[in-house]
Amino acid sequence: MLAPIEQLTIDELVQKQRRFFKTQATKSMAFRLSMLTFLKESIKHYEADLLEALREDLNKSELDAYTTEIGFIYDEISRTTRELKRWMRPKRVRGTAIHLGMKSEIQYEPYGTVLIIAPWNYPFQLAVAPLIGAIAAGNTAVVKPSELTPNVARVLTQVLERAFTDRYVASVEGDKDTAQELLAQKWDYIFFTGSTQVGRIVNQAAAKHLTPVTLELGGKSPVIVHGDANVSIAAKRVAWGKWMNAGQTCVAPDYVLVHESQQDAFLEAIKQEAFAMFGNGVGTKRYTRIVNESHFDRLSHYLTEGDLVFGGETNRDELKIAPTVMTNLHEDADVMKDEIFGPILPVIPYRQLDEVIEFISDRPHPLALYLFTESKDVERTVMKHLSFGGGCVNDVIMHLTNPNLPFGGVGESGMGAYHGRTSFETFSHAKSILKNTTKFDLPVRYPNFKPAEQLIRLIQR
Ligand code: NAD
Repeated sequence: MLAPIEQLTIDELVQKQRRFFKTQATKSMAFRLSMLTFLKESIKHYEADLLEALREDLNKSELDAYTTEIGFIYDEISRTTRELKRWMRPKRVRGTAIHLGMKSEIQYEPYGTVLIIAPWNYPFQLAVAPLIGAIAAGNTAVVKPSELTPNVARVLTQVLERAFTDRYVASVEGDKDTAQELLAQKWDYIFFTGSTQVGRIVNQAAAKHLTPVTLELGGKSPVIVHGDANVSIAAKRVAWGKWMNAGQTCVAPDYVLVHESQQDAFLEAIKQEAFAMFGNGVGTKRYTRIVNESHFDRLSHYLTEGDLVFGGETNRDELKIAPTVMTNLHEDADVMKDEIFGPILPVIPYRQLDEVIEFISDRPHPLALYLFTESKDVERTVMKHLSFGGGCVNDVIMHLTNPNLPFGGVGESGMGAYHGRTSFETFSHAKSILKNTTKFDLPVRYPNFKPAEQLIRLIQR
């Protein structure tokens, strides 16, 4: 019998995983595929408990919990299982004129023992989606779920304990002290999802051991509604993306820059859409709550910083804040400086696209950017001038639902990416191998070959 995790120190757990990794057991395709099957089976076993935990921790409705957390994961496991053989295959690459008789290929090898740290907003999905990549790539893994969603963390631990032994995959629950204790270990890879501020701490800890990292961070993701946009579609899609999970989505629209000619129509349309989809929020049963009092108080403060177009109702006992739109905000208002991460949407008018480009490029690179326009020129201008993790034209959030699009940030919104094949590559070291023939040996490179210099100059022009 293996000792239960509680009896192991973090150091012992990591050593145990390292020893297991060294046995080579995690590397075969058969092993990886079985582990993905075990993971899926275990999630299915605990599915009802997970749904209940997501309701307790965040009041997520069953539909939201299934589509954005559990269903997303089933889908990712199925795709990975289907594609793994192809992904694992070494990739042949061409040589140049000097590589006559040689073969070059990239072999994907697991890093070893990896650490995954997750946030609370999609507490199951954001812990398990990277884990799928780690397993697919042949690593062992320790997952640290968020302490702010303790019920989900507990069920996640049960899911992983049912599927795996701790020498292979383990969950370590705890707060930031536990995270720091984990970060003090030497890992072969660290995958962190969370705030930019904590991302810096993670990067510093990783630097001590020169451990490679993926940092999936946050920031303010703007929406641009241009003068030629289809305003009713823009309002409907922004309303959906903003108030899903009560705005607690890393790629949720943070604020809207709307062309002044469209402002009134946009405000009217988004009010209708918000009400049609989420009611007044506070009294709506299936509307996600704010994760805790401190986030509730932080968000409530923003409500005092501008004019309310609609919303603004709050219920501290139930930690609910209505879908809210605000205008007349000062650039220095906290709501325009911090990542909002809640159901409050500032709307700011503009006259010229140049103003928008300047406003956004003066700030840290966003994780996502959404542009509503019917003009290819406007699209080209925005894409050329602004750097951001990823985004959509005439939609919001949907870019991350396509597994063939790598998902990640740039600059302060993060580094590295995942989803689909990119997850596999993220957790794999790409080992470059050149295989030469022994059937002949071209003399060109050797110093005692007289015409070497002329020949090399001829080839490497
Ligand atoms: P957070 O950074 O506070 O916490 C994330 C994880 O880090 C938690 O597990 C926590 O225990 C740990 N942690 C907290 N403080 C720490 C410290 N001082 N040292 C070491 N570890 C520490 O983030 P959060 O509040 O859980 O999540 C919200 C943030 O995450 C937002 O900024 C959001 O945009 C971002 N996010 C990004 C993505 C993405 O995919 N890019 C997804 C979801 C959330």
